[in-house]
Amino acid sequence: MSDLILFWHRRDLRITDNLGLTAARGQTPKVVGIFCLDRDILRRDDIAPARMKYMIGCLQELSQRYTTAGSQLLITQGKPSQAISQLATALNATAVYWNLDVEPYAQKRDREVTIALKEQGIAVENFWDQLLHRPGAVLTKSEQPYKVYTPFWRNWSQQTKPIISQPPNNLEGLTPKEITIAEQTHVIELPTAEDLGYIWKNPLLLAPGETAAQKRLAAFCDSAIYQYDEQRNFPFNEGTSQLSAALKFGAISIRTIWQASIKALENCVSEEASNNIITWQKELAWREFYQHCLYYFPELEQGPYRPAFKNFPWENNLEQFQAWCQGKTGYPIVDAAMRQLNETGWMHNRCRMIVASFLTKDLIIDWRWGEKYFMQTLFDGDLAANNGGWQWSASSGMDPKPLRIFNPASQAQKFDSEAEYIRQWLPEISSIDTEYLVTGKIPDLERYRCNYPQPIVDHKVQQRKFKELYQKI
Ligand SMILES: Cc1cc2nc3c(=O)[nH]c(=O)nc-3n(C[C@H](O)[C@H](O)[C@H](O)COP(=O)(O)OP(=O)(O)OC[C@H]3O[C@@H](n4cnc5c(N)ncnc54)[C@H](O)[C@@H]3O)c2cc1C
Repeated sequence: MSDLILFWHRRDLRITDNLGLTAARGQTPKVVGIFCLDRDILRRDDIAPARMKYMIGCLQELSQRYTTAGSQLLITQGKPSQAISQLATALNATAVYWNLDVEPYAQKRDREVTIALKEQGIAVENFWDQLLHRPGAVLTKSEQPYKVYTPFWRNWSQQTKPIISQPPNNLEGLTPKEITIAEQTHVIELPTAEDLGYIWKNPLLLAPGETAAQKRLAAFCDSAIYQYDEQRNFPFNEGTSQLSAALKFGAISIRTIWQASIKALENCVSEEASNNIITWQKELAWREFYQHCLYYFPELEQGPYRPAFKNFPWENNLEQFQAWCQGKTGYPIVDAAMRQLNETGWMHNRCRMIVASFLTKDLIIDWRWGEKYFMQTLFDGDLAANNGGWQWSASSGMDPKPLRIFNPASQAQKFDSEAEYIRQWLPEISSIDTEYLVTGKIPDLERYRCNYPQPIVDHKVQQRKFKELYQKI
């Protein structure tokens, strides 16, 4: 009988081009997947129902893919250090393999699982799969992690990118006797998101799983990628890939995405077209930059990177925060964006920057409130990218210059000049003239009887106030 290796999936919910899984298959055909519904993660209060729905959908497809490949995906639950070591011991596995993560919680958990497995004499192998370049591979000349994106990009973009690995075919699964043992060791049927208490009724912007992610990538690389630089800032247009949830959960590998961008680059006939693709590659590098930052500066998770911001006198008005969450601030571009988030679990990047600036610099509310609300709603919610985006917007992060304050009206004038996005998400004011919607200055609002609020703050006044507070710290 072959040796058994368990492959523990976390944020790599795919079979194709999965470094750890391919390495396991290189050792033995008997590779069985596991996924642990982590008790500590499920107890958190920042899990978005849409994200849970997406994740469970990815697991459903992953399970089918294991079956097709001749093996199984086992679902377990509890504390990973107990659940995984008990299962591996009961099944007499020789090793457990997994891909590493940058998040502080994941690193602590992995250390505990490693100790528990080694105590049972079970080997552990780890791989870096979710990044093109692992932490430590992109450092300054003095071997320090980068704190500023542009030099990081220069170095990162020069490095040779890894190639796609072979899919693991002809796997061997558990025998019926072993399946009975697994069932006696807390292996369960895959629950639905609803079974876990997460209700999300609206359609997801991207269907879960490998198949949908591959299709989306192909469609994006067939057309929109060639206009990405011009189109990516207009929230009404579908100018971006909308692959963020697939990248967050690893429904598609970053190497597959990179290779598709290189292929698109090869098809370009002009420098102008190439620049669009390079701009998209730069976004992929932002994703890696924030993951490297979190790896080297785990304190980012706890609060502002800049010490001066620790005592920033946030006003934290709860009523205003609720108006922001519900899309009822009286600033149409901000409200449209928040409604998009609440209804789809996703928000366009330009709008993420606008609403984050508005929360921190117009409402003078602690960016951590917004960061948490985003995690509670986004289906692509990801600690490194979300924290990075919020600290960038609040000017509390590593790279605070220039002081960024977005004027909602000028943003709308520039990026939604016909108010198409505003009308899409705020149907109650869709009949109002474009000029008023874009500037947010709607005269005689009562006349329209549309139940839309007056602006809850004055941008000019708040901007001045924020600058004064900022000067003081
Ligand atoms: C306040 C704020 C919060 C954010 N929270 C998240 C989050 O929780 N999860 C998340 O994935 N992204 C987050 N972002 C980054 C960005 O908004 C999204 O990645 C992007 O909108 C996803 O859409 P897309 O897949 O169409 O992106 P595309 O434009 O097609 O970009 C391709 C991929 O690059 C990555 N990417 C793009 N921009 C960024 C960026 N600025 N930072 C890091 N990675 C990036 C994403 O993985 C994205 O899927 C946040 C940005 C801000 C300003």
